[in-house]
Amino acid sequence: MAENGSREAIQERNYLALQHPVNRIKGIGAGLQRQLATLGIETIEDLIYHFPRRYLDRSQVVPIRELRTGEEVTVVGRVRQVSERKTARRHSLLQVSIFDGTAYLVGVWFNQPYLAERFQVGMEVAFSGKAQYRFNQLQMVNPAYDVISDPEEVGVETIHTGRVIPLHPAGQKLSAAMLRRLIKRALDEFGELPDPLPASLISRYRLPSHSQSLREIHFPSGLEQLKQSRKRMIYEELFILQTGLAIRRHRIQADSRSHPHAEPGPLVEEFISSLPFLLTKAQRRAFQEIAEDMSRPHPMNRLLQGEVGSGKTVVALLALLLTVENGMQGALMVPTEVLAEQHFRNLTNLCGAMERPRFALLTSSTPESERRRILAETAEGGLDVLVGTHALIQREVDFHRLGLVIIDEQHRFGVRQRVLLQEKGEHPHYLIMTATPIPRTLSLTLYGDLEVSLLDETPPGRGAVETVVFRSEEREGAYEIARREMARGRQVFVVCPLVEKSSNSEAKAAQSEFEALRRAFPDRRIGLLHGQMKKADKDRVMEEFRQGRTDMLVSTTVIEVGIDVPNATVMMVENADRFGLSQLHQLRGRVGRSGHDSFCLLISDAESDEAHRRMQVMRDINDGFSLAEADLELRGEGSLFSERQSGLPDLRLSRLRRDLPLLQRAREDAFRLVREDPELREEENRPLLREVRRRFSPHLDWLFYT
Ligand code: ADP
Ligand code: MG
Repeated sequence: MAENGSREAIQERNYLALQHPVNRIKGIGAGLQRQLATLGIETIEDLIYHFPRRYLDRSQVVPIRELRTGEEVTVVGRVRQVSERKTARRHSLLQVSIFDGTAYLVGVWFNQPYLAERFQVGMEVAFSGKAQYRFNQLQMVNPAYDVISDPEEVGVETIHTGRVIPLHPAGQKLSAAMLRRLIKRALDEFGELPDPLPASLISRYRLPSHSQSLREIHFPSGLEQLKQSRKRMIYEELFILQTGLAIRRHRIQADSRSHPHAEPGPLVEEFISSLPFLLTKAQRRAFQEIAEDMSRPHPMNRLLQGEVGSGKTVVALLALLLTVENGMQGALMVPTEVLAEQHFRNLTNLCGAMERPRFALLTSSTPESERRRILAETAEGGLDVLVGTHALIQREVDFHRLGLVIIDEQHRFGVRQRVLLQEKGEHPHYLIMTATPIPRTLSLTLYGDLEVSLLDETPPGRGAVETVVFRSEEREGAYEIARREMARGRQVFVVCPLVEKSSNSEAKAAQSEFEALRRAFPDRRIGLLHGQMKKADKDRVMEEFRQGRTDMLVSTTVIEVGIDVPNATVMMVENADRFGLSQLHQLRGRVGRSGHDSFCLLISDAESDEAHRRMQVMRDINDGFSLAEADLELRGEGSLFSERQSGLPDLRLSRLRRDLPLLQRAREDAFRLVREDPELREEENRPLLREVRRRFSPHLDWLFYT
């Protein structure tokens, strides 16, 4: 008992120490502290959770005497000599020779003299690469290298004698060996930590403890132990994430202060029968799901997902009408002014001659007097639906009775902005629309607190879009297609990305593209649009294109967010490799909106393999979902969670795609746990609650707000 108690006391003390700066660890002074900071390691926690990048399995290491030239191998030996000199052509040449008890091998680097500092005689190092005989020596040119131990370590307790050698991400001055020593020290002092996982799960899956796993990941006692420990930590990481999402979902559903809406009535019906088309099956199903959610006393929290052109706007409008019919107001927030205006125009057009709802548009360029009138009417309830940019979340905006919040293209807004708009109502219903297909991995995480409605059917009468990739010297081929389409009376979008960040160069790039196109298409009317133009000029240029008074519209990326011109059948993208796949797919979605077959022409001189592959993927994959999966494959998901604004804790070890089965299991377990103990009040779940709060800490308002 007493022993148990003291162990808990130690765990408690260590847990609290995690936030302290690394210099609390014995032997870490100001100098080391600075060097660690360059690796992003500031607290004891950062150091303890600085996991190895990879491992070297000693059984895979080849004795130098036995290696075969020309084959990719890893060798490990002690540094015997480091020499640096100039070649006849005044290049610098670094040679590091190592000996492994069987033979010598020389690592050779050209023109990287700074590497000399990294090697010292007596160090144990690993070189990986292909060896060859040159000048009577066995050499490896530019090998990948890792420092396994440095001379200071000789005589000190060795921590790398095991079969599996951890290789921690190291820095310029801080070798992997040094880091490993510091981590060892940190673990000895603070590595005994409370286990956030409930005991029942630990025993169900026979998991090693948190502390033991930490130790094994840093200093594996064997491959099997390493595997089990990594798996446990990955599960833990995903479980904590899912617990946060489950808590959020639970809170929303437990909140019974929303306004339950009645079933769709005359306003909705009038609208549906006034439409010049029939709703698709997918649209009807989505609206039904939405109306059901809104009939409950807790807020809807739903994602409406569908490709560009799948008809999300109509569904959004149906939801808005439902809220208006129930005596409440709606807000539609979008990321850009262009998009806000377009939505506003679409909504008012779709409602045609109907008396309600009364719409208004609020952006930062709304004139002051009008703005004041809109604000007053919104507060009094004279307006039914407010469409706008983030201007909607400013403090002065005050709704009479906000019943429904809709956000379009939510990935451009942070979680925090979502919450700000929701706070303007009394627990309003909430709908997010996105045209970015969300792969399964993300619908389980980034959007894991939301219910999902999918528009998986495009309205009838859409033409096919063919994607063709051109190198810039083949651009005449792309022009040919554009010329032919314009001769048929169709219109052409040309998008050129910002090559540099400055706004000056934006204008210049767009301008020079414009000039080039004028020369290539002397008999066509061409419009130019870029971010540096005055708003009135932009509006005029877009209006001319929309009305077909220009044949071609050259622009920087602004049209990406969606101007709708059904007569446009060509989307030509310059420097296409500078765009992400999902952006390109969005651009492509701008054409093929009428019955005419359309073209997406990608011009790219990309040299890198990755860029080539991306262009191929664009050419071969038309379906947004497969494309999103392919994108995730190419880019990795690091980019998703590095964005602080995602509102989710960073994943240190997990890779969502690779770990999908674990993710699903963690999700089931977490949601079950939260169903049974929604506030995590039971003794066994306390450490978990604390960890969830800590890992989500900058975003607690999102997690715990309803
Ligand atoms: P999204 O917002 O998903 O990109 P929109 O709602 O803007 O798509 O719809 C694209 C176009 O399709 C609009 O012109 C819209 O009027 C039209 N549309 C929407 N639903 C249908 C339907 N069921 N049948 C025919 N056309 C539709
Ligand atoms: Mg849309």
